[in-house]
Amino acid sequence: MTMISRRGFLGSATAVAGAAWMSPRVLFAQEAQQPDVVINGRKAAATAKITTQKLRGGVYALMGSGGNIAVLPGPDGKVLVDSGISTSRPQILDALNALSAEPITHLINTHWHYDHTDGNEWMHAAGATIIAQEKCKARLSSVQEMKAFGATFPAAPKGAVPTKTFGEKDRTKLNGVTLSMAHYEPAHTDTDISIWFAEADVLHTGDTWFNGFYPFIDYSTGGNINGMIEAADRNLATTGPDTIIIPGHGPIGNKKQLQEYRNVLVEARDKVANMKQQGKTLADVIAAKPTAQYDATWGAGFMKPEVFLGLVYQGV
Ligand SMILES: [Zn+2]
Repeated sequence: MTMISRRGFLGSATAVAGAAWMSPRVLFAQEAQQPDVVINGRKAAATAKITTQKLRGGVYALMGSGGNIAVLPGPDGKVLVDSGISTSRPQILDALNALSAEPITHLINTHWHYDHTDGNEWMHAAGATIIAQEKCKARLSSVQEMKAFGATFPAAPKGAVPTKTFGEKDRTKLNGVTLSMAHYEPAHTDTDISIWFAEADVLHTGDTWFNGFYPFIDYSTGGNINGMIEAADRNLATTGPDTIIIPGHGPIGNKKQLQEYRNVLVEARDKVANMKQQGKTLADVIAAKPTAQYDATWGAGFMKPEVFLGLVYQGV
């Protein structure tokens, strides 16, 4: 191939047809379009250790790659809630194969964020139908901005996009367990859903609950602090004292811990709203340390106290 024809070829619309033979370069280019948070997350997830926790009624939790994953194995094939980060595929497959031999047939996404959906593509290729709220599909199908991280996320590859969607509620029975899915009012994002494994009395809250840590709230895609509190109230109203609750992040928990989390959010919201009403700037609020009594523990996770206060301030 001469220089001229090569340049002509690469510059033409048919360049896409050459993707197969030049795939390493194309893949590198796609990788480069990902924001740092994804590139770094994938690097870390490649060596992440996956822990399996047996819950109840045939439901398990897989923890260690992005958001917490729920698994319900059985004759209908494995049903998963969230797909973790793509580079953890070998460890996730090992953990799944240790439970049973069935393939993954159903994958439900709690919301669009990459740490819950990055594994969608390989799980779909392995046979899973992807189910999500309709806004989750819309966001995964297009470029998304996350201003809090200064990040731009490209549209997910076609195989990663949910094909079965619903608006407010959906229900299905698989492996003898009724799965009730319900959309939250905008909370962490505007795509959040809960999944209740009815007979097992296990609830997956997605990222409406960070157990023991200040939560991230994604205002860029519809989230807000008041919605987070309303979602926590709904989670409390729909669970009993014995319900096993899978948070989006943090250890598997219960209603008592969920109540503590809700109280921390309400106290932070009320204090910050009060100060903002008095004309205090965000810098004033951060300097006043209104959540000081919680910061050592609740601010030791993903969200530092000052970042969390900024997210609260933005929404009051
Ligand atoms: Zn999230």
